[in-house]
Parts: sequence; C-alpha cells; structure tokens
Amino acid sequence: MTRVPVNVQPRPYDAWIENGLVRRAGEVLREVWPDSRRLFVITVPPVRKAWGQPLMDSLAAAGFAGELFEMRDGETQKTLSTVEELANKLVKRGADRSSVLVALGGGVVGDVTGFLAATYMRGIDFVQFPTTFLAQVDASIGGKTGVNLRSGKNLVGSFHQPRAVLIDPEVLNTLPEREYRSGLYESLKCGVIGNAEVFRFFEEQRGRVLGRDMSALDWLITESVKLKAAVVSEDEKESGPRRVLNFGHTIGHALEAESGYKKFLHGEAVAWGMVAASMIAAGLQKADPDTARRIISTVLALAPLPKVDLASKKVSKRLLSDKKTKNGAVHFVLPVEIGKVEIVSDIPERAVLQAIEELRYLSQA
Ligand code: NAD
Repeated sequence: MTRVPVNVQPRPYDAWIENGLVRRAGEVLREVWPDSRRLFVITVPPVRKAWGQPLMDSLAAAGFAGELFEMRDGETQKTLSTVEELANKLVKRGADRSSVLVALGGGVVGDVTGFLAATYMRGIDFVQFPTTFLAQVDASIGGKTGVNLRSGKNLVGSFHQPRAVLIDPEVLNTLPEREYRSGLYESLKCGVIGNAEVFRFFEEQRGRVLGRDMSALDWLITESVKLKAAVVSEDEKESGPRRVLNFGHTIGHALEAESGYKKFLHGEAVAWGMVAASMIAAGLQKADPDTARRIISTVLALAPLPKVDLASKKVSKRLLSDKKTKNGAVHFVLPVEIGKVEIVSDIPERAVLQAIEELRYLSQA
C-alpha cells in the first residue's frame, strides 16, 4: 500500500493506492472514521455492475452502514438536477451532517458527488474512489467539484476536499479501451510538467502501459498522484503554481467546446492541446525542436486521436471565452524541457492559428 499525503489546510488527507483496495476499502475508512458513520455510495450503472458489490461488502465487513445510489451515466448528467435528485434521496434516507458520501466512478461521479457533499446541509464529508485512469491520476485529487450549465462546463462548483482518496488500479480492468487511453494523457502531462521519469516511462514502456500491466500502472499512478498532490498542496485554489496543470488544456478546452463536447474525450482534446503547445513552444524558441518532437511523438503514439477538422479561427476565438482567460490574455503553459514548463501570456494569435492548422494537417496524416 502506498499513501500519498495531500497537504491542504486545514485538513490534509491521504491518497491510498493498492491493487485490490476495493476489497479493503472499509478497513481503510475505519482509520479515517473510527466512530459509527453512515456511508452513501454514489455510482453509475457500469461501475455498480463491476465493482459495487465488493465495495459494499468491504464496508459492511468493517461495520459501516452503507447504501448505494445510482445516477445516470455520462457527462450530460453532470448537472444541478442530478445533484438535486441525489440530495432528495439523501433526505429521504435520513442522511444527516455526520453522513459520508463515497464517489465510486469516473470524474463525472467524482465532480457531482463532491459538489453534493460541499452543499448538502452546508457541507458533509466525502471520499473519492476513482474508477477511470483520468480520475485516478487527476480528477480525484485536489478538491475541485462542480457541475455543468447549458452555457458551459464546470460553471457552478466549489472547492471541497475529500477526506480520503482510495485508488485501486485493478478496477481499471473493466474500463473501456478508449476511456482508458484517453486518461493516459493526463499522466503523460505530469511527465512533461514536472516528472521527466514519468515521461521516459511512456517513451520506453509503452507496451506495458497499453497492455495495462498492473505494476506499470501502479507506478505511473503513484508518481502522477504525487505530482498533483504536491502542486495542489502549494496552491489549493489555483491562483498561481496550480496553473501548470493546465498544460494542453488551453487549446484542449477550445477543441471540446467548439465540437460541442461530442467528438473528443477530455484526455483526447488535452492530447491535441499538448501537441499544439509543444509546436508553439518550439516556434517561439521556448523549447528546442527535439523536446517538442519527443512530446509530440509520444502523445501521438499512445492512441489514434479523433481528427481536428474544425475551423482554426473559431477554435482560436474560443480561447478568449475560456473561464481561465484573465482580462483578455490567454495563458499558455509551454514546455521548456521535459519535466519543466513556463506560463506565458503574450502568445501572438498567428502562432495559435498556425498550431491549430498543424493539428488539422496532422489529423489527415
Ligand atoms: P466519466 O466519469 O464519464 O467515465 C467514463 C465512462 O467510463 C463512463 O461511461 C463510466 O460509466 C465508465 N467507467 C468508469 N469507470 C469504469 C470502470 N472501472 N469499468 C467500466 N466502466 C467504467 O469520465 P472521466 O474521464 O473519468 O471524467 C471526466 C470528467 O472529469 C469531466 O466531467 C471533467 O470535467 C472531470 N474532471 C474533473 C477534474 C477535477 O479536478 N475535478 C479534473 C479533470 C477532469
């Protein structure tokens, strides 16, 4: 078992990483809550079918009274009405301020459950049990919670830190292939922004990673979680250093939005965003051409990506409406070398347009 501390104030917590943890979850949560608590597990049908029973059995074995609620699956369900529906169920079942929510699922379940926990009776405790690679290495750590509005993604939300994050690489065995590969890019991102060893692992051990070799996954997840935990501990509310986590996300978000969130999975859009940022960095001589080439070829070797066939001008216009844009200045996280990035805010529009054109060109290759 690996325990990675997430040192946010006033209440730090641990991410616990172990193969088979789903069957020991109750035991671990007993360390967090020695007293009696009612636990409400929130999940989606595919995850319940594969992992609901072992988790509920382990909670019962540790003496917790547990109940499981299902929400409908998919990004379209990340809404205030899902939160309201779940809150009503909690009231009906008598959940009170000492009750604990457990998010068993991907980033959607984590964001919805976290937001519900942040607001139910003005805030109750919750636990993240992430079941996608993306949620294990990224979404479950750091306390960002929220839902989408019709006018945009993640526009209503709150920072609410979990009391524990339980990560079991074994649950990835049932994850559909495209979802799995899409999550890998967030870990590769950790390699580029701060851990050159992770990056080299993707370069040299791609076969093991794509084959879901458990010891390779265990290592990658642990290193990625350590990096995210360190960044979040330094800057909980994303006012400064946490912005490096947005590497690949500036253009990635624009691609997702411009295609109506239908064409790209989040990780796939971020993958194209990392390619674009590397091209921009090389073009502006922030990174040497070899660094950019290594990043681009490692991204493209991980999986076939959906084509970028959107109008470059429209994608670049989207950048300005991103909620992270401040006073009209688009911030780009650019690679400087493998394991090091720089935040740059005065990128000329023509450099952005050119990079998007190159994505369109690469898509046709
Ligand atoms: P997701 O939660 O929609 O899960 C993807 C699909 O995989 C779903 O159909 C789900 O049912 C299925 N699934 C999950 N685990 C499974 C398993 N083990 N076996 C079988 N099927 C399984 O998608 P995601 O990529 O995990 O999360 C995307 C969401 O995360 C977005 O809404 C994004 O905004 C959010 N996010 C949040 C943060 C944060 O810091 N809070 C960070 C990154 C992304």
